[in-house]
Amino acid sequence: MLDNNFNDIIKEKFSGEVFETVSRVADEMHLECYAIGGYVRDIFLYRPSKDIDIVTVGKGIELAEAVKKALGKKTKLSVFKNFGTAQIKYKDTEIEFVGARKESYERNSRKPIVEDGTLEDDQNRRDFTINALAICLNKDRFGELLDPFGGLKDMENLIIRTPLDPDITFSDDPLRMLRAIRFSSQLGFDIEPETFDAITRNKERIEIISKERIIDELNKIILSPKPSIGFIQLDQTGLLQIIFPELVALKGAETKEGVGHKDNFYHTLIVLDNISKKTNDLWLRWAAILHDIAKPATKRWDNKLGWTFHNHNFIGEKMIPGIFRRLKLPLNEKMKYVQKMVTLHMRPQVLVDEEISDSAVRRLLFEAGDDIDDLMTLCQADITSKNPEKVHRYLRNFEIVHQKLKDIEEKDHVRNFQPPIKGEEIMEIFGLPPGKEVGRLKSSIKDAIMDGVIPNEYDAAYKYLVEKARKIGLEPKKNNL
Ligand code: ATP
Repeated sequence: MLDNNFNDIIKEKFSGEVFETVSRVADEMHLECYAIGGYVRDIFLYRPSKDIDIVTVGKGIELAEAVKKALGKKTKLSVFKNFGTAQIKYKDTEIEFVGARKESYERNSRKPIVEDGTLEDDQNRRDFTINALAICLNKDRFGELLDPFGGLKDMENLIIRTPLDPDITFSDDPLRMLRAIRFSSQLGFDIEPETFDAITRNKERIEIISKERIIDELNKIILSPKPSIGFIQLDQTGLLQIIFPELVALKGAETKEGVGHKDNFYHTLIVLDNISKKTNDLWLRWAAILHDIAKPATKRWDNKLGWTFHNHNFIGEKMIPGIFRRLKLPLNEKMKYVQKMVTLHMRPQVLVDEEISDSAVRRLLFEAGDDIDDLMTLCQADITSKNPEKVHRYLRNFEIVHQKLKDIEEKDHVRNFQPPIKGEEIMEIFGLPPGKEVGRLKSSIKDAIMDGVIPNEYDAAYKYLVEKARKIGLEPKKNNL
């Protein structure tokens, strides 16, 4: 990773107006000044990074103010006096300034008592060795790397490790336990065994962390390239049981009379990894996590059928608001989308049957609407058998369903179906007040179109409506044709 071209990389990454200005102004103010944290780490990982953290020994806010002045009008400065930090926005870069600090913690809070400190104190308070690297920006020592805990070596060996005693690091700020697992999942790094064991020992401490911070890290794990890495570690350390017990409840494969069912926890993780190869959409990934969430609640043994999980999709849909509320996920259209995916996740499979009517296909298109492609992505990701022959057959069937959906959509355009006659018009035609009768007549038009009895057109729908209404003794008061 790091070889002879180290100096070239540093030169390139610390060139340009921002760094030149910070360097010059810091020298003028006689302040030691370093780039630190994620920006430095990401250079060695070849990850793009726009957020720069700058640490000075003393006077972080004053340095930011002087840099803003030097960079001129296009720069926006925000000062957070309470935190002793300041932020500059310059073009598409955000630069955070802070004075080097020493931190000490009290047992029941992750908010430290902060004092001014040296660069070393500041590096000591960092969470992981790979996040504690600093590069000096003062002219005399420009580009000098300060790596007191061997962060570079850990990066080469793909290791997450705390700089100090992990028990203290995690007990001080338990959010770091989730950050360790998040970095491991994002970067594909291993957590060093002592660090890992300390997470297990300190797991209960996660209780002092706000739900908002927890979900922030969990979502980053979910958005990582192979999220199962993070979830397996969350499970092994016992954190998952505390923050998301419904998922742990999926574990286990019971056998009765020689008949087993799959372990739905590992199945869910495979589905999540499968879908993560296809989409970066957080909510579709959440749908994968939750698609079988009601299997434990619906599991039954049937002497004829073996293990059944009847209605686990509908019960799963009902469990989602409670889970979202507790985890502080949004209770808006994102949640509704996840619920829809979970309810419908088995429907495409059913359409494989040759005998299946066009009407069933139309109904699925209607119910899924614009989310039909996402549903098909979820459904495909859900094919996880260990038997390659079975997987091959399922995937072929899946293609057949895909084709059926395409053909019917091209023919009937029901994907964004709107009934050609609305409730208000029905009231007007028959002089009816709002009520059940209007609803029934309206759905009879929808059903007739879905079942292919009439085409999806106004005139046909109108004639059908009048016939239907006559049967219950209603005559049109006006002719709308
Ligand atoms: P990302 O941008 O992917 O979230 P990052 O490491 O840049 O990663 P930030 O949250 O911006 O994350 O943190 C910047 C730096 O601040 C980290 O690299 C680390 O040195 C330090 N840091 C952040 N959070 C903590 C924490 N909870 N405990 C100790 N140090 C932390």
